[in-house]
This record gives sequence, C-alpha cells and structure tokens, in this order.
Amino acid sequence: MAKKAFKAESKRLLDMMINSIYTHKEIFLRELISNASDAIDKLYFKSLTENIGLTRSDFEIDLVIDKENRILTITDNGIGMTKDELENNLGVIAQSGSFKFKNENEDASKDDISVIGQFGVGFYSAFMVASEVTVDSKAYGGEQAYKWYSQGADGYTVTECDKQNYGTVITLKIKPNTEEEEYDDFLEEYKIRGIVKKYSDYIRYPIKMEVTHSHLKEGSENEYETHTAVETLNSMVPIWNKSKSELKDEDYNQFYKEKFFDYDDPIAHIHTKAEGTATYNALMFIPSKAPFDYYSKDYEKGLQLYSNGVLIMDKCGDLLPDYFSFVKGLADSADLSLNISREMLQHDRQLKIMAKSLERSIKNELVKMLRNDREKYEKFWKAFGLQIKFGVYNGFGAAKEQLKDLLLFYSSGEKKLVTLEEYVSRMKEGQKYIYYASGETVDKIDKLPQTELVKDRGYEILYLVDGVDEFALQMMVDYDEKQFKSVSAGDLELESPEEKEEIKAKAEESKDMFGFMKEALGGKVKDVRLSKILKSHAVCLTSDGIFSIEMEKVLSQMPTEHNAKAEKVLEINPDHQIYNTLKTLYDTDKDKLKAYTELLYNQALLIEGMAIEDPVDFSNKICSLMTI
Ligand code: ADP
Repeated sequence: MAKKAFKAESKRLLDMMINSIYTHKEIFLRELISNASDAIDKLYFKSLTENIGLTRSDFEIDLVIDKENRILTITDNGIGMTKDELENNLGVIAQSGSFKFKNENEDASKDDISVIGQFGVGFYSAFMVASEVTVDSKAYGGEQAYKWYSQGADGYTVTECDKQNYGTVITLKIKPNTEEEEYDDFLEEYKIRGIVKKYSDYIRYPIKMEVTHSHLKEGSENEYETHTAVETLNSMVPIWNKSKSELKDEDYNQFYKEKFFDYDDPIAHIHTKAEGTATYNALMFIPSKAPFDYYSKDYEKGLQLYSNGVLIMDKCGDLLPDYFSFVKGLADSADLSLNISREMLQHDRQLKIMAKSLERSIKNELVKMLRNDREKYEKFWKAFGLQIKFGVYNGFGAAKEQLKDLLLFYSSGEKKLVTLEEYVSRMKEGQKYIYYASGETVDKIDKLPQTELVKDRGYEILYLVDGVDEFALQMMVDYDEKQFKSVSAGDLELESPEEKEEIKAKAEESKDMFGFMKEALGGKVKDVRLSKILKSHAVCLTSDGIFSIEMEKVLSQMPTEHNAKAEKVLEINPDHQIYNTLKTLYDTDKDKLKAYTELLYNQALLIEGMAIEDPVDFSNKICSLMTI
C-alpha cells in the first residue's frame, strides 16, 4: 500500500512537532484527550436529539500503558471517523473537523455543541513522543473501520481494519530515550496520572486507567503486595465548580492560558458564585495585555456561556458591557435551557440579571486592585484604560458613575498617575476647579505656556494625552461637585482682587490695539486678549466655549467630514517685553504691527502643535526680521 504524503503545510508542522517546538512534550496527552472528549461531545449531542440508545454515563476515555512494548493507547467511544475523515482530518492541517461539524449543524442551534479547538494542530503533537502513531476508528453508524498509520513526516496510510465498536483508538509507540530526551516517563503510571490531573482534570467524561497500588501484606511488616484496579483519574469537576480554597493562582493561570490562548498569566482572576435571583458560577480573567486586535472592530467581546457544564455559546456578548470587553472567561448557570437560541438569549431576563451582577464583580475587582496593588492596576490601566475612558464618554455618559473612580490621569504635581479622588483630596483651600491641560505627551503639556502660572500658584493639573480624555471629562462635567476646567479655556480666576484691578486697567488701555490686531488676523481668532495665565511666555492660544483646540485637533484626524472649530483666542502676556513693543508699533507703524500679529498668531499655533497656514510666509517674515 503506497504511502500518501502529508499536505505541505502539515508536513512543516509535523517537522516542527517532531523536533518539538514545545518544551512540555507532555501536552500531547492533553491534546489527544481533548480530541477524544470532543468526539464524545459530538455523539452525546446526537443523543440529545435522536434516540441512539446511549446515556451520558456510557461515555468514557480509556488509557492503557503497555510498558514492555512501549505502547500507550487512548480509546474513546465518541463519534469516530470515516475513511474520508481520517484522510481529511489527520492528513491535512488547518482542516478542523470540529469546525465543519458546526457548520453542518447550522439548523440545529449551532452554538449548542461543545466543541473546542478549531486550530487543527492538536493531533500532530503525538509525534513529539511517538515514533509511530496508529489511529483505528469506526464512525458512528458506519460499517467498516479504518486504520490510519504514520511514522512521521514521510507520509501515512489508510487501510481497512477490524474494530467492533464505534469510536477511536490512538496507539502511540513511545520513542526510546535519547541522551537529551527522556521518553520513558510517558510509560509510567504515576506520570500519566499526573499529566491527566494537571491538564485534563475537568474533562467531563471519565478518563479511566488501570492503576497499581501496593501496600503492606496483612500481618507483615516488610512484605508488600500489589493489586490493580481501574480508576477514574480526573475529577470531572470543571475548575469553576471547585471551591476557591482548592485552587491556587497557578491553577487559574494555567486554565486561562490554555483556554484563552494567551502566553502570559492574567493580571487577575475573578471567581464568583451567585445564588438568588440568578444562580451561576463564573470565572473571569483580566488579561495582562490587550490582544493585538483589541482596539479594532474585529475584536469580539463575550464570555463563554455554559448550562450545567455544557457549553451553549462561545462568545456571549450580552454578558459584558463594552467598557469591560477585555474580560475573558465563562459563566455557568443551571437556570438556562440547553436548547436556547441566540435570539431568545437576548431577551432572557436571567441573562440580564447575570450580566449586571458580573459587571459588579468586575468593577469590585478593579477597585480592589486599585486600592491594594497600585502597580498591578497601572499595568491594567496601560492595557485597557483607554477602553474605560471611552466607556465614560459613550452612551452620553450613561456609565460615568460606575467608571469615574477607575480613571487615572497624570498629575503635574505628583508626577505620576492619580485618581480623581486623590486629586480632589489635595485641592487647595478655595480651589474651585479640577484643572486639566491637553496635549500629545506629558512632556509637551508640561512645557505649554498655559500651564506655567497655574503650577506656579501651587495648583495640580491633570495632563490629558489621549484624544478621548477631554471628551470624557466634559461628559462627566464634574467630580465630587468640582467642575473640570481646562487651563486653556476661559477665566481660571486665579488672580487676587488687586491683580484683577491691574489687569482691568491694562486691558482698557490696550483695547483699541487688540481690536486692530483681531482685525489684522481676518477672522482667524474670535478675540485678541490680555492674558491672565501667562507668566514668562509671550503668547498662547486659548478657547472660548466648550469646544477646545485639542478637541478640534482630535476631530480633524477623524475620517468623517466635519467643521467643528474651536473659538480661538490669542492671548498676549502684558508682563512680557513684546507687549510694550506692540504698543509702540500701534502708535508708530501699523503695518509692522500687522505683520507681528501674524507672527505671534503662528507662533501660538506652533506651541499648540498645530500646522500653520502659510509656513513660507512665516519664514520670510522671520528672515526679514533677522536681516540687519
Ligand atoms: P482540532 O482538534 O484542533 O480540530 P486535531 O489535529 O487535534 O485538531 O484534530 C483534527 C480533527 O481530527 C478533529 O477536528 C476531529 O475532527 C478529528 N479527530 C481527532 N481525534 C479524534 C477522535 N478521537 N475522534 C474523532 N475525531 C477525531
């Protein structure tokens, strides 16, 4: 019988497996056991809708070790494979049988089947430990059984074979030990038991193996006798049904990484049991990094939804609000019916109650982290803070109350991220506002002329560096009854009564000049004003109204058309030498004053990080000033 070659991709993967990309070769067993469990799931699912003369307790996975012949077999009485399926599923990579099965059952509610592993690499891991792999399989309802056999990369054969029962037997010829690698372990009872416990404990069908026990002979002090018995190795209790005291962080992390395909441990896990209006067990995780597609529309939020340990939906989006969409995990409730459809679920009252209570658990966990482990929280914030800020802004601020205490912003005073509560607790006596300044980076904001005086007077400023920040704060309006105020918007009311008088007098004296300057700028600014917030710098731009310059910049980067513009005000520092120069020019040389006004305006634009309209003209004007 001629060998068939593996498809190119499969061959490459196989080579990789044989040369083991995995440091933990032992995971081959987990892969084969989950395949067996999936195959049983499929048949079990059939038994729910057709009478096939089987009940749940008939299903099992058996392991047999034959140490002498270096053979390990994994047997299941699941759905089995036809000849074609053996060819297609095991000869081709990325051909996920599980996935196909899902599609074929489109009519039946397709989420009702507990099938995992749509990646099609699992089976090949057998070659990490075996020099020969044989798969004897008989499809449920089929007549003939077939044998798939391969020694690795040079191909495989499929032949007829005798097999009484439907299901699959995988026979592994375990490799001999080499100098670098130890394979004998995979023929040791205790080792196999350990691997099953470690990776497959919550598989919902019994994994059985003959186990040898030795104990002292009755009446003897040094003579041992052994006896063997078939035992179920796994507890079959899903991890989320276990009590917290039984589980270590390690167990949770391990489960998370395997189930949600992450290389890193999660930052936190949330394991809750609820009783009452909604009864469920939930196990949720906060990843330590945002997935690469997280901030794109490809990302799909949701928790796995189980009914009594049986998966009924892989990503139930209704269980998570958008602002907590980064959470991974599952919820298992006995209150949900197994055959519930996606449409029905959306209106399910039970589900809504669950969603609310899960949301509370997530929030509590985050608050706890913020209080008790700031470093960890900041890591979380780095990954998902943006999502929380969008959460404050979206839906016209519907969730702002829930989220406001989770926010962090960089503080000018503390030189680190602070909460709003912390800011308010440090506010100076008589301080009316929570001050903020927006810009591209903390460094750039720190250098903004508008922030100098406010800092100088001892006020803390929150530096906003994300586009959404100012929108979010405006949506909130205030925190603890203290309004937010941009240092670049309107009157900050920083000056003493005497200073106020002084400024008023100066403003009066330069009113005409400012009128001329505004005119000279031809409608580019709403006003030219004497500044109350500049200390050592000559000019800056501020804005009137709620729409700030920073917001204009954010919106101008959006792909959609809009003409939202900030009402810009050019502010001149009366304590700067330039102010006197302008005054002199107003009396002696109006043309020059006009040119200077344009220069000052362009400088203010540059300080704000905005483009100037005519850089060539700007440069020419500066050059003519520089010419002696
Ligand atoms: P995955 O399980 O991720 O799809 P595998 O390479 O482990 O990828 O398996 C490929 C396919 O082979 C499975 O999807 C399944 O259809 C089939 N298969 C593997 N093991 C068994 C088994 N024990 N019983 C029935 N089908 C199996």
